[in-house]
Amino acid sequence: MLRLEDVTIRQGDFTLHAALSVPAGAHVAVIGPSGAGKSTFLGAVAGFVPVPSGRIEWDGVDLSARSPSRRPISILFQDNNLFPHLTAFQNIALGLKPSLRVNAAEQHQIEAALARVGLSGFGGRKPAELSGGQQSRVALARVLLRARPLVLLDEPFSALGPAMKSEMLHLVRDICAQTNATLLMVTHDVNDARAIADSTILVAQGQATGPFPTAELLDNPPPVLREYLG
Ligand code: ADP
Ligand code: MG
Repeated sequence: MLRLEDVTIRQGDFTLHAALSVPAGAHVAVIGPSGAGKSTFLGAVAGFVPVPSGRIEWDGVDLSARSPSRRPISILFQDNNLFPHLTAFQNIALGLKPSLRVNAAEQHQIEAALARVGLSGFGGRKPAELSGGQQSRVALARVLLRARPLVLLDEPFSALGPAMKSEMLHLVRDICAQTNATLLMVTHDVNDARAIADSTILVAQGQATGPFPTAELLDNPPPVLREYLG
């Protein structure tokens, strides 16, 4: 279980409070108005954004003092998930070995991850030689290979067309289900929330609240969400 115990998150002048728990293996959407703090919320869980008070726990272990790389987390950002000077294979290998010196068994794992996301044979290409959808798949293959228990997505597929985005989201969901990972996914598209997430965290007015059952929240939204949904 991910637990945020009376947490204050601070990014410059901006402050967000959170007191909530997410059960292990849950698939949770994170929604709210633009600028409300969704990215800041994920950044705090990942360890990129300061948490001056409160505790963030995973499985009862306090993560507060751990650097991002020592947290049980994989994160995909909106852009720049891949290094342009590295091949797809190398970008994935980074998830296992920052030195890129992979042994035969690891090489095999990377090939398997490429195959899982439908990119067998594309390992030698650099990001510029791949379509947007293929780049997303490479980034996803790295998440798959790292097999961290907590997967955070900050709208990584929003630049893709609707059909490709939906395909990627379903692939994420299947991969998380397979590895029993807990998924937190920022989205501005409530259809994504309905399609992928049983429960949803609402970030608005300086608070992260929930998770609420997605259908209940969206069918009967509180005023702040109603305003945002239009
Ligand atoms: P969302 O992802 O919901 O659109 P963000 O988490 O990006 O919102 O931003 C929340 C607030 O934090 C905004 O007011 C934004 O201006 C501010 N903010 C974001 N990043 C920084 C930063 N690096 N330094 C200072 N303030 C920031
Ligand atoms: Mg954001």
